[in-house]
Amino acid sequence: MFADLHIHMLLDGVYWRDAIAVHKPQPDDALIRRRLAAYRSAGITYLRDGGDRFGVCLRARELAAEYGIAYCTPAFPICKKGRYGGFIGRSWETFADYQALLAQARAAGADFIKLMVSGLMDFSAFGALTEEPLTGEEMRSLVAAAHDQGFAVMAHCNGAKAVQSLAISGVDSIEHGAYLDDAACHALVENRVVWVPTLSTIGNLPGSGRYDDAVLTQILRSAQENVRKVAALGGFIGLGSDAGAFRVPHVAGTLSEEKWLRQTLGEETDAILTAAETQVKSRFQPAKRGT
Ligand SMILES: [Zn+2]
Repeated sequence: MFADLHIHMLLDGVYWRDAIAVHKPQPDDALIRRRLAAYRSAGITYLRDGGDRFGVCLRARELAAEYGIAYCTPAFPICKKGRYGGFIGRSWETFADYQALLAQARAAGADFIKLMVSGLMDFSAFGALTEEPLTGEEMRSLVAAAHDQGFAVMAHCNGAKAVQSLAISGVDSIEHGAYLDDAACHALVENRVVWVPTLSTIGNLPGSGRYDDAVLTQILRSAQENVRKVAALGGFIGLGSDAGAFRVPHVAGTLSEEKWLRQTLGEETDAILTAAETQVKSRFQPAKRGT
């Protein structure tokens, strides 16, 4: 296991406000270096950051080469104004705004584009999401515009209908993907999307006292069933921990994600994860910089 396909160098696995404060007014190099060294010591040599608008992922990419780590970043995530993602990303209201953000991402040296197209899981109730997703038409337009500019697209998305629409849009990877149905599973496979289920963001929560552990267990089981279903259909399942999210510390989160995926996929784990990792590494190439 050599890659974590979804981390946030900005965040600390504890509390996002405090984590962001550490990196103001500028990214904390000493902290970033400690984390890169820890990833390297664990044998992790490829990191794909989900992005942040504070420049932490971009600084991490600059430093990563010293640690022998290939580091890909979208610069910042892109979300619709008023929807989930504003705390870490930049927002669009009109399609022209979105195109301006694509230009900003390119200018910042983004390796790919990261979209936020739905809300989060509401961990207090099985099946509940925090908000409505973007429409299928919006997803198609956003993904197509990024592809037109030569960017691969990683997208945060939850819910069966939203994931199905997003997969059909031709997105390259889908992150989280809670509560899939059969149609969504088939859409992932038929469109060769890499699904990064971030099981640690659910599996690591019991014991925190913040949620009902019985609900968490039910959510995790449902995610694991869907992972097995997509794997059985021949789909791509990637190891990405969402390190930095609540209860998902850097490096330890990568290892917990490996544990959850092994528990889910059994003896097929290595072959499945390697296939997805290969896909991501070929699609999400570090941009040629300085040219
Ligand atoms: Zn994330």
